[in-house]
Amino acid sequence: MSESLFDKVKINHFSPNDSAMQDSLTGLDRYEIFLKKLQKAIDNIGDRRISITYTDIKHFKYINDTYGYQVGDALLQDFVKEMTENNEYVICCSRVYSDNFVAAGYLVGEVSNEQFRDFIQELNQEREVRFREKYLNSRLQFCSGISIIDKNSRSLDAETAVSNANLARKVAKELEEDCCVLFDHSMMEGIKREVEITSQVPKAIANHEFKVYYQPKIETSTLKLVGAEALVRWQKPDGSFVYPDQFIPFIERSGQVVDVDYYVYREVFRFLAERIAAGKKVVPVSLNVSRVHLTKMSILEYVKSLFEEYKIPSELIEFELTESIYLDNTAQALKLVDGLHKFGTKVSMDDFGSGYSSLNLLSRLPIDIIKLDKVFLKDDTLQESDKIVISCMVDMAKRLRIVSLCEGVETPEQSNYLKEIGCQLQQGYYFSRPVPQEQFEQIIDNEYNDRDSENK
Ligand code: C2E
Ligand code: CA
Ligand code: CA
Repeated sequence: MSESLFDKVKINHFSPNDSAMQDSLTGLDRYEIFLKKLQKAIDNIGDRRISITYTDIKHFKYINDTYGYQVGDALLQDFVKEMTENNEYVICCSRVYSDNFVAAGYLVGEVSNEQFRDFIQELNQEREVRFREKYLNSRLQFCSGISIIDKNSRSLDAETAVSNANLARKVAKELEEDCCVLFDHSMMEGIKREVEITSQVPKAIANHEFKVYYQPKIETSTLKLVGAEALVRWQKPDGSFVYPDQFIPFIERSGQVVDVDYYVYREVFRFLAERIAAGKKVVPVSLNVSRVHLTKMSILEYVKSLFEEYKIPSELIEFELTESIYLDNTAQALKLVDGLHKFGTKVSMDDFGSGYSSLNLLSRLPIDIIKLDKVFLKDDTLQESDKIVISCMVDMAKRLRIVSLCEGVETPEQSNYLKEIGCQLQQGYYFSRPVPQEQFEQIIDNEYNDRDSENK
């Protein structure tokens, strides 16, 4: 516990609240009261505009977990003080729950909705600097969503206005830079799509609408097939395809990705076991591991049961965990890697270099392979700066005895460059797109027929 933090933080003890109308910690109106006041203001809106700003404090939990609730409470009180003081335009404010706050106010004069957004964004950023210093947390962030209504708005209902602001806040929370977003009706479309997708998933699993595609992995020195990555596709009954980027983020939020991943894993185990039983050649297949598994950890049990059921050698399975998983929760990720290693399977760090640079993690993590993200190969002709970064990463991996694989190889120039710098494995459209199982089987069969005839 940091002494200096307590020195800096003045713990405000609000006098015990005898009013059933107020939140005892912050002294703000209780949410039901807030809604009533807001509705009254809306009913009398006239020619005015009302802004509803919904704010949430990112990484607030860390403060509670690290310094205790007393400091967490002090931070909330500090925030409330700033939110309410010297603001004659505020109609009412409330804590919806925990670290979620909502404030309603009149927009004055000529200020445009966008200017108001910029104003709140600046306010959040300034506050962030102060609070990060005061509360010793360099990641603390204020994320706000704003909905603005006037007499012509589609809905003039307080609850809808708050839920729109909250929706914009969720969008803000996912953005890296902007911590403040204005609600617009297209966001509702996104929500509708999410609800539509997530409600269809259970049936899609039962109907075998998810298909596993395989993308070959190639050994640089020989240009031979040495493995594949399993990539899921959703083929709707009408034959149309939904690609992972269009549904994985939704089903990660709903938790259903666990079931889809298990479905993919089972398909891959079954595929390999069937080929082995038929005396055909096989290559190792890597499986993507969603971040959601980290919270459940039932993946280890599930994989164990698949090995018991299908009895395939463990060298045939690899797991890909994205760089961000390791960063989000290193301790839990290490546990997972450890558990997967116990089966004898290899583990890779996927999308390496796509987000934060986790160079320091690389030396601490027991991973076998790094998959350099396709962002490094974004241009057909490699930029000198990209070349430097890729070659340094490959070199570093080599020294750490980690195998390097480069994703997204689309041209012979890129492939040759990877050979020059000794990147062991490659994967990308230049060799093959992800293909359905039948096509992948042909690729394996052709490869081994060729090798057999070379050996004769
Ligand atoms: P990822 O794991 O990074 O997979 C590689 C993605 O890059 C695939 O997109 C692949 O089709 C694409 N790709 C491969 N070669 C090239 C190339 O040369 N150029 C370009 N531009 N792209 C290339 P896909 O299949 O759409 O998958 C997108 C992401 O969805 C994957 O990224 C992975 O994060 C996720 N995903 C896919 N299947 C599964 C799954 O079964 N479970 C989980 N949890 N996630 C999955
Ligand atoms: Ca992957
Ligand atoms: Ca990747």
